[in-house]
Amino acid sequence: MKTENMTKIMMANRSSMPSIEEYIEQIRPLWNSRWLSNEGAILQKFKASLENYLGLGNIELFVNGHTALELAISSMGLSGEVITSPFTFISTPNAIVRNGLTPVFCDISEEDFNIDVQKIESLITEKTTAIVPVHIYGNPCDLEGIERIAQKYNLKVIYDAAQAFGVEVDGKSILEFGDITMVSFHATKCFHSIEGGMLSFKDSRKREQLRKVKSFGIVSEDGTELLGVNAKMNEFQAAMGICNLSHFEGYLEKRKSIHMRYREQLAEVPGIKLAKHRANVKPNYTYMPAQVDKEAYGLDRDELLERLSAEHIFADKYFYPLVVDYEYYRDRYSEIELPTARHVANSMVLLPMHTEMEFKDVDRVCEIIRRSSK
Ligand SMILES: *Cc1c(COP(=O)(O)O)cnc(C)c1O
Repeated sequence: MKTENMTKIMMANRSSMPSIEEYIEQIRPLWNSRWLSNEGAILQKFKASLENYLGLGNIELFVNGHTALELAISSMGLSGEVITSPFTFISTPNAIVRNGLTPVFCDISEEDFNIDVQKIESLITEKTTAIVPVHIYGNPCDLEGIERIAQKYNLKVIYDAAQAFGVEVDGKSILEFGDITMVSFHATKCFHSIEGGMLSFKDSRKREQLRKVKSFGIVSEDGTELLGVNAKMNEFQAAMGICNLSHFEGYLEKRKSIHMRYREQLAEVPGIKLAKHRANVKPNYTYMPAQVDKEAYGLDRDELLERLSAEHIFADKYFYPLVVDYEYYRDRYSEIELPTARHVANSMVLLPMHTEMEFKDVDRVCEIIRRSSK
């Protein structure tokens, strides 16, 4: 029991769950209605709760975040090249490639680990049609900088906000920026519906297209209008989403307190740099990214991970390797130089961060980190 508890607590991430009774309460009507998918009552309720919580009007729900991103990109009618970040989950470039487009990787900024807006313009060619920036760890990109470039060169902006649920900038949801934005509700994200995804879009005329495409393109009993797929969220997913949404503010408070505890405990450790949040940002405290500077700390990232795992603490390398080092991309991008992304991928660790941690767990992690320093 003791070891089970320890592994449970000391993972970099652990899915939040409501009580089983709450979930059963939500799914109980399904045994009567037998309406298990195809946008039934539970999905409608989930969608309305999200619109209300996020203050958004134009949203659609999907079976998962990746498919939502693929469909978001395809809905923009793009061709040629798309500029994106190399410091992301493999889903981002795959969604671009699977749309027949070529990803052009722009190096990141060491400030926020997002696409470096200063470096975007030099990558724009006559083939460029869009930018797919990623709000990594829920950190907002330079929204204004990206908007300015998009306007100047007439590019579409599709945000991968998979990790940014609940984040606000100047009191506004992060999901309101760009032409279209994808959020993931995967079990490992700070808000989840087991699997799931959402698109938030600027132009309300997009709604019909997205609704059709996620349901085989069917418009009526005897016709389809476009080449659709099946990407609908089902009622069991929506029920989990409703439960988790009702706890989200509480989860946020919990994550914030853990975040603050880490900051306090690690403030004086040379060579351990914790991500900062800008003053105008309301963060979601998803993940606890820390960068290890070998010079100052004495150990490199991998050595620190070994020290932690020897004490049954399982921190993560994330994102490592860089997407350009994955099999599909390796040969195609062998020449590419991404010094900052590479440096960050080699020095970043995600410390344990989830809603079931207690301060004593944080203190234990921090004690090992302090003790391992030179
Ligand atoms: C999780 C994630 C995705 C994919 O979302 P799924 O819901 O797991 O399909 C895409 N991009 C990023 C940055 C992610 O973290």
